[in-house]
Amino acid sequence: MTPTRHTVEWGNKVIEFSLLRTDRKRVAIEVNPDLSVLVKVPTTAELEPVLGVVRKKARWILRQQRYFGQFAPRTPPRRFVSGETHLYAGRRYRLKVHTVDGAQFVKLAGGYLHVYCRYAGALDAKRQLLEDWYLQQAVRVMQQRLETCIDHRVFRDLALPPMSIRRLRKRWGSCTKSGRVLLNLDLIRAPRNCIDYVITHELCHLLVPEHSSAFFRLLDRVQPDWLERKTRLEALLV
Ligand SMILES: [Zn+2]
Repeated sequence: MTPTRHTVEWGNKVIEFSLLRTDRKRVAIEVNPDLSVLVKVPTTAELEPVLGVVRKKARWILRQQRYFGQFAPRTPPRRFVSGETHLYAGRRYRLKVHTVDGAQFVKLAGGYLHVYCRYAGALDAKRQLLEDWYLQQAVRVMQQRLETCIDHRVFRDLALPPMSIRRLRKRWGSCTKSGRVLLNLDLIRAPRNCIDYVITHELCHLLVPEHSSAFFRLLDRVQPDWLERKTRLEALLV
């Protein structure tokens, strides 16, 4: 039998796994060095209880993935030289570094991310220029996405919330008690549809604070494919 693909949510993580029905009595879970997860089950097993077993073992699965993950090749440290690729809006762009006498700036043109810098060899200066550029784009794009996402009938009683963009360590977004939406600066590297997933999730929190079943019912209603977007976002940026 060919394995089928499934996902289980655990906290803010999504565990993807292949389910293989075999001639066996118990459920067995394997985490492979390439971080893939294989769940072997008896041929007649029903899906719901299997998902329950995977959820129960989630902590162990994630620990195994972290263990194998440390041997995986890491993204080499960024050098900000011509030819290096950087993500923006879900696409990889090559850098072109130019030396200029006048104003320094960054511009996306002709499929390249151009960095105009006074000292092309100055790593910190280039990093800062790009960082500032990402922030400028994030402010513009995320404000626009927020205005688009809130334009759903479910949110008709909400006023447009204030928004801040930060470098958040462990989350894509959150919202404060006062109703401010915080978004992770890194989201600007992801496609718009992933940004919309995070914003919509936070907008739903303005109506239902906890991750209760009411919350997920609401989210499903506004954005039925939110789990796909979340998986895509994490595959791209985590
Ligand atoms: Zn949440």
